[in-house]
Amino acid sequence: MTDTRTPPMNQGGSADAEPKIVILGAGPTGLGAGYRLKQLGYKNFKLIDRHDYVGGLAHSFTDDKGFTWDIGGHVMFSHYKYYDDCFDALMGDEYTLNDRESWVRMFDRWVPYPFQNNIRYLPREAAYDCLSGLIKAQTGQGKIKSHKDAENFGEFIDAVFGEGIAKHFMRPYNFKVWAHPPEMMNKQWIGERVAVLDIDRALKNVILEQDDFGWGPNNQFKFPLKGGTGEFYKRFGDVLREHLMLGAEVQSIDVDAKAITMTDGRTESYDILISAMPLDVLCKDMLTGEVPEDVRTTAAGLKHSSGHMVGVGIKRPCPSTKSWMYFPEENCPFYRVTYLSNYSPNMTPDKDAYYSLLCETSSSDHKPVDPGKIVEKTIEGLENSGLLEPGERDDIVSIWHHEVDYSYPTPSVERDGILAQVIPWLEQRDVYSRGRFGMWKYEVSNTDHTLMQGVELVNRLLLDEPETTIGLIYETTDDGREAAKHERSKNAGSGEKKLVGAGTKASG
Ligand SMILES: Cc1cc2nc3c(=O)[nH]c(=O)nc-3n(C[C@H](O)[C@H](O)[C@H](O)COP(=O)(O)OP(=O)(O)OC[C@H]3O[C@@H](n4cnc5c(N)ncnc54)[C@H](O)[C@@H]3O)c2cc1C
Repeated sequence: MTDTRTPPMNQGGSADAEPKIVILGAGPTGLGAGYRLKQLGYKNFKLIDRHDYVGGLAHSFTDDKGFTWDIGGHVMFSHYKYYDDCFDALMGDEYTLNDRESWVRMFDRWVPYPFQNNIRYLPREAAYDCLSGLIKAQTGQGKIKSHKDAENFGEFIDAVFGEGIAKHFMRPYNFKVWAHPPEMMNKQWIGERVAVLDIDRALKNVILEQDDFGWGPNNQFKFPLKGGTGEFYKRFGDVLREHLMLGAEVQSIDVDAKAITMTDGRTESYDILISAMPLDVLCKDMLTGEVPEDVRTTAAGLKHSSGHMVGVGIKRPCPSTKSWMYFPEENCPFYRVTYLSNYSPNMTPDKDAYYSLLCETSSSDHKPVDPGKIVEKTIEGLENSGLLEPGERDDIVSIWHHEVDYSYPTPSVERDGILAQVIPWLEQRDVYSRGRFGMWKYEVSNTDHTLMQGVELVNRLLLDEPETTIGLIYETTDDGREAAKHERSKNAGSGEKKLVGAGTKASG
């Protein structure tokens, strides 16, 4: 085996002289790593995925009725010039530019996002609850005196937003998204920025009856003109064609022999492995060789939620200009619905005659969902929340149901401790776990973050540059091991104007 531990590694020479890099997972993380390797002239690498397509969770599907669906509403808010340059290079001018228009559905009405700036839209009692709780919380008179005292996300919500917003929006909405009680989640993933809310603005908007929308010309997002979100990632796949090994499901990885075995019996050796598959599955089910039991059991403690994506195609002109909407109430199963047909004229068979709604529902042991009933429950929920008019279900011409086992990496209270143990152990064996479920950091798990996790890792391996997005720093401990410390990355966040009202990220 080639020694790989002293970067920068050989680059641009003959493939034989280069350590062999295998990338497990052809989603944005793996594609970002592969693209950067190719850009640096590196030749000796392979990109493996169990699916016969690239893109992972950012892939798009076109059904036989001609509707295109994403795996949940994907909105691209880039934090990186490199990512923007990739988009320009691969998409040219084949994109649409959309104004973000997001709403919250509650009390049988539409409340503009951000929620706490538009409390005036609520019934008076609820508006009073929200304002009074917000004032108490922000002046240290709430249940939890300060966000600094909060030990988990649940307490953070109470400390920052107060009881009213917590009761009417933050707690029910976040449970629907995360499928875990907020007390099981840490507060670090949100960051400090949300800790101080503008009470004066909230009050002024109620008393002066002002609208305060979080969207406008500065809040636009690009979307591929054809083929949905996945078209962008498909084009990375085209560039990397000669390195791709699709339809290859990894079954086991021998960390001592540095060899991968596929479910169909094929094998592949590596010097360096970049993995974007779920970290818990990697450690507990895949690794063979000398693997301490506590690495397996520790990684198995990571928590996640699953998701049901239900696309509903309707033979009517689109009735709305909205982009996406949040649903905290119990009269519908979904937490978010997107008017996907508003993102591009090519998402339905005919833009003037059809429109499409993409509905996302999460599930976990804490919030079970019956897969056999979710489609009907979704349609009922669309009716309950006023998105489908009475009788409109007769005009539904397409239903798309896609279930994902790993949808949201839960930022649980124990997460950072688990990562600090498992990630350095893997890296000492030349296994680099990155990406939405490879690094498990929701705060840096959108498409731009994950693609850049792949790019930055390659920059580290080949050019000796530090990784910044993952927010991990390695320090040598007294006993000589590498330990990971966590920092909030300067690139973390959703790209939202900021968080304010709706509290959690507006994108997935
Ligand atoms: C509901 C939802 C909404 C989202 N909304 C947004 C949004 O609005 N904006 C945004 O930017 N991002 C959004 N995202 C996030 C985006 O999809 C992810 O950032 C991105 O797909 C993660 O890329 P990845 O490569 O890390 O992981 P994945 O996309 O999960 O890719 C991992 C790959 O590994 C492969 N793999 C796993 N196990 C094996 C195995 N044993 N053998 C071989 N291959 C294997 C999988 O097939 C997969 O292709 C959303 C995600 C979800 C689920």
